[in-house]
Amino acid sequence: MPDGHTALKPAPLTDRFGREISYLRLSVTDRCDLRCTYCMAEHMTFLPKKDLLSLEELQTVADAFIRRGVRKIRITGGEPLVRKDIMGLFEGLGDRLGSGLDELTLTTNATQLETHAEALVKAGVKRVNISLDTLDPDMFREITRRGDYEKVMRGIEAGAAAGLKIKINTVALRHQNAGDIPRMVEWAHTRGYDMTLIEVMPLGITGEDRYDQYIPLFDIRDELERRWTLTPEDARDANGGPSRYVRIAETGGRLGFITPLTNNFCAGCNRVRVTCTGRIYMCLGQDDHVDLRAALRESSDPQAALDEALDRALIAKPERHDFEINQRGQGPALDRHMSVTGG
Ligand code: SAM
Ligand code: SF4
Repeated sequence: MPDGHTALKPAPLTDRFGREISYLRLSVTDRCDLRCTYCMAEHMTFLPKKDLLSLEELQTVADAFIRRGVRKIRITGGEPLVRKDIMGLFEGLGDRLGSGLDELTLTTNATQLETHAEALVKAGVKRVNISLDTLDPDMFREITRRGDYEKVMRGIEAGAAAGLKIKINTVALRHQNAGDIPRMVEWAHTRGYDMTLIEVMPLGITGEDRYDQYIPLFDIRDELERRWTLTPEDARDANGGPSRYVRIAETGGRLGFITPLTNNFCAGCNRVRVTCTGRIYMCLGQDDHVDLRAALRESSDPQAALDEALDRALIAKPERHDFEINQRGQGPALDRHMSVTGG
C-alpha cells in the first residue's frame, strides 16, 4: 500500500537514455599516502582544504542523492581513510542504511584499514574494494612509489578478521604485474576474496607513458584460459557496474574484467561521481560537470538548489565515454586524475 507521502516523493534520477541512477561514488579527498604510477604524478599539488566539501556538506549531498533514489554509495578518493575524522561520515551515512540506503561501501588502498576496519563494520559497511597490484613487496614499492607492503597486508587481514567481504582491484600493467596475475588470482580466491582486473585508463598526467603501461585484458584472459576453466556469469555485473565476471572452476572464485578501452561498458551505467569539491561528473571519461558546492554554499535554500543541480546534471549524462590509448607519447584523454574524480 502506498503511504500518504508517495505523491510528494522527489522524482528518481533518470537520464536521457533511460538509465536510472541508483549508485553514487563520493570522493572525500584528493589526497593519498601512495603515488601509484598509473594514478598520480610523483609530485602532486593537492587542493586547498577550503575547496573541499566539509564532512557535513558531504552528508548533505549524499542525503540529496538518497532522496532522489540512490541506494548505494561508495566512498572513495584519493585515499578516503587518510581524511581526518572520516569515520564521522561513515557513521552518518550508516544511519541511512535501511531508510533509503541499501549499501555503504568504500574503495581503499588498505594502508589505514588495520586502524579502521572494526569501526567501518560498526558503521554498517559490509564490503570493501581494496586496490592491490602485486604480491611482490619490491614491485609494490615501485608501483606505489612509497607503499609499505606489510602494512597493507595487515590492513587486508584486519578487514577480513572484522568480517568485511573483500574484493581485490588490480590494474593490469604490461611490464610490471601482467605476468603475476595468475598467482594473484590464486592468492585472492584461496582467501575467499573476489578479484577484478582493470585496464589502465588515460586520466591525468602521471609522468609515465600510458602506452607502455597498457595491456588489453583479453591478453591476460587468454593466458588464464590456458590454465583454468572460465565460465562467464550473467552478461553484466548485477549492480549495473562495468565489470564482467567469470567463475573459475579450479579456484572456485569470481574474477571481474573492467575493460574501458577494449570493450566500452557504458550501456547500463547507473552511476555518477561526486568529487571532493562537490563537482558532479556524470561520466568518468568526460569533462562535463555541475557544481554542487555552489548550490550548497550560495543558495538560501540548499536542498532546492541541490535538487535543481541534480536535474541539470542528469541532462548532461552522456551516452558513453570516449577514451582510447593508441600511440606512444599520447597525452591523457582528460587532465583530471582518477584520484580527483574518485575511482
Ligand atoms: N585510493 C583508493 C584505492 O586506491 O583503492 C581509492 C581511490 S583510487 C583512484 C580507485 C581505483 O582507481 C583504484 O582501484 C585504482 O587502482 C584505480 N585507478 C586509478 N587510476 C587509474 C587509471 N589511470 N586507470 C585505471 N584505474 C585507475
Ligand atoms: Fe592513491 Fe588509490 Fe591513486 Fe593509488 S590508486 S595513488 S592508492 S588514490
